[in-house]
Amino acid sequence: MKSKYSIFSLLRNSLSYHENWESQWRSPDPKPHYDVIIIGGGGQGLATAYYLAKEHGITNVAVLEKGWIGGGNTGRNTTIVRSNYLWDESAALYDHAVNLWENLSQELNYNVMFSPRGLLHLAHNVHDMQEIQRRGNSNYMNGVDAEMLTPAQVKGLVPFINLNCRYPVMGGVLQRRGGTARHDAVAWGYARGADACGVDIIQNCEVTGFDIQNGVVKGVQTTRGAITAGKVGVVTAGHAGVVAEMAGIRLPIESFPLQAFVSEPLKPIIDIVVMSNTIHAYISQSDKGELVFGGSGDPYVSYSQRGAFNQLEHVVGPVVELYPIFSRVRMMRQWGGITDVTLDRSPIISKSPVENLYFNVGWGTGGFKATPGAGNIFAASLAKGEMHPIAAPFSIDRHYSGALIDEAAAAAVAH
Ligand SMILES: Cc1cc2nc3c(=O)[nH]c(=O)nc-3n(C[C@H](O)[C@H](O)[C@H](O)COP(=O)(O)OP(=O)(O)OC[C@H]3O[C@@H](n4cnc5c(N)ncnc54)[C@H](O)[C@@H]3O)c2cc1C
Repeated sequence: MKSKYSIFSLLRNSLSYHENWESQWRSPDPKPHYDVIIIGGGGQGLATAYYLAKEHGITNVAVLEKGWIGGGNTGRNTTIVRSNYLWDESAALYDHAVNLWENLSQELNYNVMFSPRGLLHLAHNVHDMQEIQRRGNSNYMNGVDAEMLTPAQVKGLVPFINLNCRYPVMGGVLQRRGGTARHDAVAWGYARGADACGVDIIQNCEVTGFDIQNGVVKGVQTTRGAITAGKVGVVTAGHAGVVAEMAGIRLPIESFPLQAFVSEPLKPIIDIVVMSNTIHAYISQSDKGELVFGGSGDPYVSYSQRGAFNQLEHVVGPVVELYPIFSRVRMMRQWGGITDVTLDRSPIISKSPVENLYFNVGWGTGGFKATPGAGNIFAASLAKGEMHPIAAPFSIDRHYSGALIDEAAAAAVAH
């Protein structure tokens, strides 16, 4: 049982110079058997384990992470949260997540710093205007908030924006419930919550193979020995294809690097997330004051997690055109993550040809925002052995039946 974080625990621990805080989760050795093994200790894997234990009473669960929890895309992403996707299936999926974000800090007793500061997509040409109007209408019909803005209204929200740049700003669509959250805290909060329910979080434990007998998964091989399991859930993002191949499955996924970078910390200057699909740049400001920048994915497949100068240039150019005020801001850090991209830019939340082996992958450049919702419905699917109704359309089968959920336009700039 974890002690509750509160003003009283803060005061109590301050009396001992903050030297006696209990560790947030245990570091147990792997047991020989678990009812459910989750491969991948990113936010989504940890959220799955948390909801398995909390909502379905399945506590004999291990999360196996080859590195450290949150060290994959969860700790590398630009933390944009929104649910204004085009198709009904996506709206249901991402809005389920936004609804959970709204109460997540209270649910986990952990401040995930969810900040629904509003998310603005800019439109720079007639096509963009048509796209945001179509999407905005679709959002409206799905109960997802969307407000169309004129250039003057955009200027009201971002007073220093240059509306008449190379690609003039013709309007925008605003989702006020969108925003950001603190990525590490999401992984840590779910880890602490899952651990408190009895889940074993095992870091530095890479899954290297599966034990499959007569088409049924019986366990996994790891760098810390073989472990048997009733069910296995794969939540390995950029390495989805690599892990699936160990089970003899070829996923319709390609892995591309996606880069991001932050500036030196500044005083508060932009209190909203602004995205531009056409010129491939988006920007927000972290609570530490850094401007957080991102753009499109690298144009080639790779497992590199590094930043590169060409991408920096590709994003900074349009940023400086849109926001000349930032032209002298110094960049501080740049990095990359490996995104698992499907051909319709929607995730695969699915059973697989191997019985009791489930996948929750293919989130590509936009799965952070889905973390609570995806974990919640994947846990329900694992617990019941039937895909949750929100997850069902995201089956791997859609790539064979043709029932794709094509979010490529709405997700073009990633996230
Ligand atoms: C630069 C960048 C910016 C992004 N910006 C946004 C954004 O603003 N908004 C948004 O919604 N999304 C964004 N994304 C996408 C988002 O980060 C991912 O979709 C999401 O974090 C995926 O979560 P996850 O928990 O599935 O993956 P991860 O956090 O990557 O977790 C997967 C884990 O699996 C582990 N693993 C892999 N192979 C094995 C193995 N064999 N054995 C054991 N463990 C293994 C990895 O080490 C990793 O920790 C961005 C991504 C990047 C790279």
